[in-house]
Formats: sequence, C-alpha cells, structure tokens
Amino acid sequence: MTPTWVQLAYLACAVCFILALKGLSGPRTARAGNLLGAAAAVVACAIPFVHLDLDHVPLILGAIAVGTGVGVLGARRVRMTQMPQMVALFNGVGGGAAALVALLELAHMISVADRLGVDPYNWFVYAATAFTIVVGAVSFSGSAVTFAKLQELMSARPVVFPGLPIAFAVALLAAVALSVLTVTAPALWVGIVLAVLGLAIGVLLVLPVGGADVPIVISLLNAFTGLTVAAGGYVLGSTVLLVAGTLVGAAGTFLTLLMARAMGRSVAHILFGALRGGSTLGAGEASDRPVRSAGPDDVAILLGYASRVIIVPGYGLAVAQAQHTLRELVDVLGARGVGVDYAIHPVAGRMPGHMNVLLAEAQVPYEQLKEMDDINGEFVHTDVVLVVGANDVVNPAARTSPDAPIYGMPILDADHARQIVFMKRSMRPGFAGIENELLFDPKTTLLFGDAKDTLGKLLSAVKAL
Ligand code: NDP
Repeated sequence: MTPTWVQLAYLACAVCFILALKGLSGPRTARAGNLLGAAAAVVACAIPFVHLDLDHVPLILGAIAVGTGVGVLGARRVRMTQMPQMVALFNGVGGGAAALVALLELAHMISVADRLGVDPYNWFVYAATAFTIVVGAVSFSGSAVTFAKLQELMSARPVVFPGLPIAFAVALLAAVALSVLTVTAPALWVGIVLAVLGLAIGVLLVLPVGGADVPIVISLLNAFTGLTVAAGGYVLGSTVLLVAGTLVGAAGTFLTLLMARAMGRSVAHILFGALRGGSTLGAGEASDRPVRSAGPDDVAILLGYASRVIIVPGYGLAVAQAQHTLRELVDVLGARGVGVDYAIHPVAGRMPGHMNVLLAEAQVPYEQLKEMDDINGEFVHTDVVLVVGANDVVNPAARTSPDAPIYGMPILDADHARQIVFMKRSMRPGFAGIENELLFDPKTTLLFGDAKDTLGKLLSAVKAL
C-alpha cells in the first residue's frame, strides 16, 4: 500500500504539471511554468528512492546521470531553429522508454501469474500493456525518422514506394491481432513482436510525410507518447504518470489540431496526403525571373517617411538572429513618429510561437505583436510592409493556386499594402518550395542580403535621415 505522504506528494506534482502548462501558455509566465514543471518532475523521480526498497540503485543513478548529461548538453547546444528536431528526439526517447517498461512489466505479470498458478491481472491491464508497447514503439521510430528528416540526415521530401500502403495496413492489422493475443494468451514473445511491428508502423507512418508537414507529425507523435505514458501509468498503478501522460497527450493533440488548422490542412491529409500525391514537397529551385531590388538607403527613405509600417518576421529572422537589430530599427522608426507593429503568423518560423519567443528575447513589447486575424484588416492602410526572412506566410498562392502545397493556409495580407519590401538572401523559395508571386509584384522591392547584416545597414541609414 502506498503511504499517504507519497500519494499527497504525487498529487502535488500532478498539480504542478497542470500549473506549469498554464504558465507555458503565455510569454510572460512561460519561464516560471517551465521551471515549475521541471522541479515537479525531479521531485516525482526522487520519491521512489525514498519510500521504495529499490534494487540496482547504482545502475539507475548511472542511467539518470547519463540521461541528464546528454539532455543538458543537447539543450545548451541546440540552436533555436533546430528546436523541432530536439523535441522529436526527446519525445521519441520517452515513447521508447515507455514501451520498454511495458515489455518488462509484461514479463513480470507473466511470471507472477505462473508462480501463483492463477492470473491476478484483468484483461484491461494486458490491453493497456499491449497499447503501451506498440504505440511507444511507433512514437520512438516515427520520431527518429522525423529527426533524420529535419536534421537533413535523409531527404525531407515524402518517401513513397509501391506497396507502402499495403505494408502499412498489414503491419497495423498484425499489431491489432497480436494485441488481442496479448490479452487472451499473454506471452513475452508476443510483446517483443508487437514492439518490432510498432517500430515498423512508426517508420511507414512518417516516411510519406514531407516538407512543412514534418513538425506537425512531431506534435502528433508527442500526443502518442503522452497516451503511451498514461497507459503505462495505469499498468504500473502510478497516478503521477497517468496524469502527466494525459496532459502531454491532450496538449499534443491540441497543438497538432491548431497547427493543422493554421496551415489549412487536415491531419489525415498531412499523414496520408503523399500516398495520394498531395503532400508538401519541401525544397525548391531558385527563380531567375527579374525583380526590382534596392539598397538599404532607398529602403530607409521608404520606411523613415512612412506613417504606418508593418513588420512581417519569418524563419529567416531566426536564422540570421537579427531580432535585436530589428527591434532597434523599430525603436528608431517609432522615435521618428512612424507607427510600427509586428504581424505574427501562427506558423511563421519552424515551430509554434517561434516568432513570439524570438521577439520576446529581444524585449519587443508584447503590445506591438499583432496576431494575424487582428492585423489583416490593417494592411490596406499601411504604407510599407517590411518582410524580414518570411515567404510562405505572405504567399498569395495560398489563396489562388489550388495546386500549391500551401493552398488553403490563411496568410498575412501583405499584398494589400501600398509598398512591400522583402529582405532575403536570394531568390530561393520558402519552406513549401514554391514561387511567391508577390516577389514579382510592381509594388514590391527586394533588399538582398543576410537579414542581420542588411538590418544593420538599414538602421544606420534610417538614423542618418
Ligand atoms: P519560409 O520558410 O517560407 O521563408 C523563409 C525565408 O527566409 C526565405 O525566403 C529565405 O530566403 C529567407 N532567409 C533564410 N535565411 C535568411 C537570412 N539569414 N537572412 C535573410 N533571409 C533569410 O518562412 P515563413 O516563416 O514565411 O514560413 C514558415 C514555413 O514553415 C511555412 O511554410 C510553414 O507552414 C512552415 N512550418 C512552420 C511551422 C511552425 O510551427 N511555425 C511548423 C511546420 C512548418 P533566402 O534563402 O533567399 O534567404
């Protein structure tokens, strides 16, 4: 019987996890929320050492030390733009760990039943164990493939081969059959085959997903890991795991749906689109069509004498790490009496909230960050839109080209402004890999160069006006 103080301590940890999620929902409270969640996780991990008579303590502590070392090093080294693959990696390891724990628990349950001569576990415990093994393995291998895609260890394009849908369906049916067998005639070999099938399903599920859809799949696999951990919590009789897993599962599911909606795509289309030939392709050719370009001095005049300017930040701003210079430019424009706001697209950058995090780091006041729905009506009254390292989020093809991979994605109406200035390095397309007609619009000027470098020159030129 678990002592009352342990149950209360776990309850406190579970409450902290919920408060942590609440904190993470706003930029002002996110840091505190993160710390609270991490502290609760440390306490939850420490409790078993105090009240249980554990075997293999040095081994467990060694494993924790290795995991902590790798985690701290990875988190310190990772660049902001590599965050999605980092999340994929952590998430996959979580799913894999849950699957391994469930396999061990299955072996334990079978040996207890053998010893007693009668099985004390009900069918639901076996069903939850089978679920944890198979979905945890899916999450592990699926996350590994998404990591490889985002880290460019393999092609980010959808990988489809003849027979893939059939192989996927067969693996899925076999997993269902073996899960039933785990309940009706539990055996360790069934669990092991189930884990191998889960690994295969994870790979086959993620291979056909490409380009901009990959981070959405990471979020979906994150939800899978949450559900796996929750089921594992049920099997082990651990309330804190059950609560933590459910929270991760729910948060991952919401995030998946929100990202899919922000991109104007359904989750089913993202997962199975490539099989029908409709997934985002990723990577594209640079255009050689003529465009109008200008230098920092000309753009400084456009901005310095405007009365209303909207900044559209995108992935390139994060790559260039130009957020501080951008804020300085906006401050100088503000001091000249120019009204400036930032228009934040929900999927600008490479992860949800990417631009908010980036600009918050540069101490941009939150009041200047305007969400898409709030600012879209204002572009018609805007003198200049300065697009800094963004592309897809202002690409009108999302409205007009049914064949475009981003068709249906709500975009920022930058094309409604009087003048548009794009800051980018070349004529290469954005993440979706398609041309942006707005670059060739007579109202558009291009200011070529790395965003940090060009913003610095632009800042000096505006100061000199
Ligand atoms: P895009 O990827 O469409 O465009 C980025 C632009 O930045 C390119 O035009 C690139 O052009 C430019 N760029 C890159 N590096 C630099 C640099 N150092 N200096 C200046 N410019 C640079 O970005 P958006 O933010 O507009 O769109 C995000 C895309 O990512 C969307 O397709 C979205 O669906 C996808 N996505 C977003 C997710 C999210 O949660 N935020 C998740 C999944 C996908 P050049 O190379 O010529 O410099």
